[in-house]
This record gives sequence, C-alpha cells and structure tokens, in this order.
Amino acid sequence: MVNSALPPATDAVPAAPKIRLLDTLLANMDGMVYRSRIDTHWTMEYVSQGCLELTGYMPEDLILNKRISYDALTHPDDRERVRQVILDAIARHKRFIIEYRIVKADGEVRWVGERGIAITDPATGHAALEGFIQDIHERKRAYEALREAERRYRSIFENAVEGIFQSTPSDGYIEVNPALARMYGYASPQQLMAELYDIERQVYVDPGRRAEFLRRMEEDGVIVNFESRAWRRDGSIMWISENARVVRDEAGEILFYEGTVEEITERKQHEAAIQFQATHDALTGLPNRTLLYDRLEQAVLQAHRHGNILAVVFFDLDQFKYVNDSLGHQVGDRLLKTVAGRLKSCIRHADTVARLGGDEFVLLLADQSGEEAVTHALQRILATVAAPWFVNGTELQITCSMGVSLCPADAIDADTLLKHADAAMFRAKQSGRNNFQFFAAEMNSAVNGRLEMMSSLRRALANGEFTLHYQPKVRLATGSIIGAEALIRWRPPDGNMISPAQFIPVAEESGLIIPLGEWVLRTACAQAFAWQKAGHAPIPVSVNLSPLQLERGNVVDMVTRILSETGLAPEYLELEITESVVMREVEKSFAILEHLKTLGVKISIDDFGTGYSSLSYLRRFPVNTLKIDQSFVRNIVSDPDNAGIVKAIISLGHTLNLNVLAEGVETEEEYRFLLENRCDEMQGYFLSKPVAQDAFVRMLPARDA
Ligand code: C2E
Ligand code: MG
Ligand code: MG
Repeated sequence: MVNSALPPATDAVPAAPKIRLLDTLLANMDGMVYRSRIDTHWTMEYVSQGCLELTGYMPEDLILNKRISYDALTHPDDRERVRQVILDAIARHKRFIIEYRIVKADGEVRWVGERGIAITDPATGHAALEGFIQDIHERKRAYEALREAERRYRSIFENAVEGIFQSTPSDGYIEVNPALARMYGYASPQQLMAELYDIERQVYVDPGRRAEFLRRMEEDGVIVNFESRAWRRDGSIMWISENARVVRDEAGEILFYEGTVEEITERKQHEAAIQFQATHDALTGLPNRTLLYDRLEQAVLQAHRHGNILAVVFFDLDQFKYVNDSLGHQVGDRLLKTVAGRLKSCIRHADTVARLGGDEFVLLLADQSGEEAVTHALQRILATVAAPWFVNGTELQITCSMGVSLCPADAIDADTLLKHADAAMFRAKQSGRNNFQFFAAEMNSAVNGRLEMMSSLRRALANGEFTLHYQPKVRLATGSIIGAEALIRWRPPDGNMISPAQFIPVAEESGLIIPLGEWVLRTACAQAFAWQKAGHAPIPVSVNLSPLQLERGNVVDMVTRILSETGLAPEYLELEITESVVMREVEKSFAILEHLKTLGVKISIDDFGTGYSSLSYLRRFPVNTLKIDQSFVRNIVSDPDNAGIVKAIISLGHTLNLNVLAEGVETEEEYRFLLENRCDEMQGYFLSKPVAQDAFVRMLPARDA
C-alpha cells in the first residue's frame, strides 16, 4: 500500500485488537462485507456477519459455496446484468455500484445495493472482488412510490384541462402547464414563460386585479374563485377564475404561489344573458318593467340630488290592436320593434325607454329644464313615430298618445309618477289620440286612470249603470227605418256620461266585456221583442260584438240562449263585427260566422275599410252587410279620395251581393252622394243621433203603417 513506506506510528494499535475492532465493526454493520472470487459462482471467500440478516443464510453457508453460491442467490432476472456491470468495471479498473434483487433463504425477494472493486492480491497476483452489499428494499420501494406519484402528478399537470401555474410575487410565472399556455393563446408553456413577464399588464384587463390578487394572498394565503377578465395573447378578452394558495418556506417567507386557472367566459356570457333576460323585453331588447322601476328610482334620486326635472312619459300606440288584429302578430311585432328603435333614436344616452308590454312604453327623460323642453322632446317623438313604415311593400302609418308627469312637480315617488303619467296618457287618448298631455291634478278623479276605470266598470255592471241607446238605420231609397243599432252608454252615479270609445277598450282589457256584452245582447233582444209586442213593425236590432267575445266567449251558445230567453226571432238580430276581428283568425271566425248564420241571425262587418280585408275572404264569409266606416263618409263631398273609396266599397259590396250601409252620415250632401252612388242604407246624425229607447220608439212606425 502507499502508506507502507512511512515509518510505523508509535501509537499505532497493535495487530490483534485491530482485527477485533474490525470484526466488531463489520459484525455491527447494516449490510454484508465480502470478498469474492471472480468466477461463475461469485464464490465467496469471506462474508461478514451481516450475511445472515441480508440473505437469511449463515456466512458459512455461502463461503466457498458450501450451501449456495452468491450467483444462485442473485435473482435470475438480474444475474446477467449484475455480471455485466461488474466485469465491465473490472475491465475499466473502476469501482462499481449496482442495484439488483436477491432471493433470500426463505424465498423473499429483496432489493440490494452493492458497491465494490476488483483487488489484485500482490502476493498471489489473483484478482478478487471486495465490497459491501446492503438491503435497500425499503428505500427502493419508497423511491419507486415517489417516482410513481411524481409521474402521476406530472401527468395531471401536463394533461389537466385547467391551467396550472406557479408564480412568484416578483418574477411572474416559474412553471405553467400546457393547458394554461393554450388558454392564454401560447404555443407552449415555454413560450408563455418567455413572453409573459408582466402578469399585471399582460394577464389582467382591469387595472388593480393583480394588486388585489397579491393583497388577498398576503392576507389570507389563499384565493378562491377569483374572477377576472384576462387577455389572450392575440388581444382578445376572456373571463378566468383563479384558485391559488401561497407556498412559504420554513421561515415563513413566500416561495411562490401555486394555483389553477379556469376559463369561464361561456358561463359569464350565460350569466349576463340571464341577467339581461330578466331585465329586458325579449321582443325589443328594451328594459322591461323591472329595470324601468330601478332606473326610475335612480332617476328620482338624481333629480332630487341635482335639483333637476325628470319627465316620466307614458307612451301608447294608437289603434295598435288594429294592426295586430288585421295584419297579424308578426307584423305587430315588427311594428313594435320599429317603434322601439324610433323611440331610442329620440332620446339621449342617459335617458331610458322601457317596454311595459303590449304597445305600452315608458320614457324617462332626465335633466329637463322645464315643460317647454319636454314639449320639444315629445313633439319630436310624435313626428318620428308617425313617419311611415313599410311592411311587405305596403306603407303604413301609426300614431301614438303620450302622458307626462314631472318630478318633483307632480310626484316624487316612482309609483305615483307612473300612475299620473298613465292618467295623462289616457286623457291624450280621449282628446283624439296622436297627441300628448301633461298631468293635471283633476286627471286624478275616479274614472280617469285605466286602473280606476276597471274597478268602476265592475261596480257599474253590478249597479246597473249602463243603458242602451238606439240609432236608426234607414233605407236610402225610401227613407224608411230598417233597423236599429244598439249602442251602450255609461252614466256613473257621480258624473257625466262616458263614451263607449273610452270604456270599451278598458272592458276588453279586463275581460269585463264578456259579461257586459252578454248584458247588451240580452237587453237589445228583449227591447226589440218588446217593440214588436207593442205593435210596431218588426225591425232587426244590431248588436256590436267585441273581439274578445268571439275569441273567448262561446258566442253561438250565448246567442242561442238569449234568443230563446227573450223570444226574439233570429232574423231580427244582427251582429256587428269589426273587420279587423274577422281577419284576425280567419278560419275560426269563418266557423263561428257559419254557425251563427245557420241560427238565422244576420251579420254585418263594422267599420269596413279600416281593417285590410282580403277580398277572397270576404267572398267566403257568410255576411249580409258591409258598414262603411265613418272616416270615409266624412268629407265624402270635399275629399275625392274618400269619395273614390266609398264608391269602390259600394260596387264591391254589390258585386258580392252584399248590402252596403254608410255610417256617420251627417249632412244632406253626404246623403245625396250616397243616394246617387246607390248605397243601400245609411246611419248617422243627419237622420238621428243614438237616442234612449223611449225617444227611439217614437220614430218607429206602427206595424201597418
Ligand atoms: P260603431 O259600432 O261603429 O258605432 C257607431 C258610432 O258612431 C257610435 O258611437 C255612434 O254614436 C257614432 N255615430 C253615429 N252616427 C254618427 C254621425 O253621424 N257622426 C258621428 N261623428 N258619429 C256617429 P258610440 O256610440 O260612441 O260608439 C262607439 C263605438 O263603441 C262603436 O262604434 C262600437 O264599436 C263601440 N260600441 C258601442 N256600443 C257597444 C256595445 O254594446 N258593445 C261593443 N262591443 N261595442 C260597442
Ligand atoms: Mg257598430
Ligand atoms: Mg262603425
């Protein structure tokens, strides 16, 4: 050895104790020290006491292959590899380290680690192996388990659909998985980490999000469902939700953050859509009633805070039912969308247009200087709405009525403002439509608001506040009375007579028209029968039917029942149905009219010319009379258009073998025109206004007259 040249140290341990010390040491070592020959058996020349513990064999069993050779002990699958590694090391004069399995005496397979080296005995010149073999089974197992766990986590990390990251407060990302890279629009994690260095600006759209993230991490150590808008690499924006925690070292210093990122853009869009649906009208996309109330309350507060005026405008289309009934709901819907668009074009950004339903809209005009400014705005709206619009190549026009209440002058709470605006709108309707009215205190009286009117109507029906007036129908050629139209009148106990034009729409809206209509029919039939019994020449009485009665009431049953109740013969009853109603649901109307016809009652089409009738339908319908709407009869003499229309209707009616009656004849000129153009019948103030039955009966000739 190298040291042999040095003089022996004086305090050297004598040889015998030295060997004993070595023996003790070897015996107590956790493993087996050996010396083996380099032969096919790995014949052991020496093994330490650890042999028993390691292999289950006594050292004597192994030495010189007494019972078993070390090669045989080696697991058959590992023998070749072990030999290779060792011979290789010998050839290269190197130490070797190798792990392999042995089969212990009891058959148990254990992992061992061996390290050794080939030594040449200077005395004999023979080479031998010297080394140390240790049981590493537990360590190996733990290591394998760890490797397996690591592999699993890696795989989760690599394949997760969620983005996973580790980042530091200062350096940005230190590790990200492919999903995160993909989500942010990078080709690979490497690209992301190379390019994305400024998380605050490159990830978060909204300033302050990164600071908020860091703050919460500092304070709570975790972050849960942290939702932010984030940039993708291409500049598009998405929504993400982050869950993360802080990882600290033993001293409590922040090492890094680790967490997950999930893209939630779709969910956010859903949420937004649901939110939008809940607060907007599906047809027009305008705010709905819910949002209107919100905005109105805000606007009231604003007005109060800044001392401004807020105008609340109740808006309702005129004759919208006409369009809907005669042109169909699709056209009606298109009109509503057009109107919504026009209203929006009339208001400023800070104002609101909301749709309450049907053809009712509400506008909130904030920050108004006074009535004059509001008037300007509303005039613009009137004009804009009234501009023609086109449907299927046809030009149509519609007007609107509006009512305005002002905050704070008229009220300072949302409900009252709306109620007042509604009352004012109702007044606008009464004053001939296509106009607007400011709220005035007297509009608050009992029957001005529609809601109040509904309850008054209910009471009126129970209290018998209705009567019928009758207007004669006359044959033009002879001047003789050939019929009477029953027209309802309402006189509330405390007030003036209210026109059916005002309350019939409200009765329809509330459904009250069904019992009311039945009352009219019964009263009119009973009256006509009474006239006959009193000895007057029998004439048919005409009763107006509301659309709702045709739609919901069982008209055929009702008519049959009432005729038999009152004893009136069916040929003395005429039912007036407005043109738009018949056209609304052609097939259904057709069936009902056919049925009525078989009962023997007569049918006339009221307000003819206003409802876009189709000629082919008209031909099919079992109708007796066309009643030309009074809007055409008016100005018949001065307005060539109207004259033309009336002439056309008369000749059309005659072609179809129908009676033609002109409504609203007020002057002698009109009468002459109609006579000349061979209109069959007429009705109007020229002859008589609708009058109470006692006045009407005086006009009736006796049976034999
Ligand atoms: P309508 O069926 O077209 O009735 C004719 C309307 O014209 C009546 O108005 C009548 O008073 C009015 N009138 C008659 N001659 C003239 C005239 O020469 N000049 C002018 N300017 N007007 C004239 P009224 O009684 O106010 O009724 C309005 C509408 O209310 C009726 O129109 C009808 O649609 C509806 N109505 C009236 N009574 C009833 C009813 O008992 N049931 C239903 N469902 N509707 C009714
Ligand atoms: Mg009528
Ligand atoms: Mg009419």
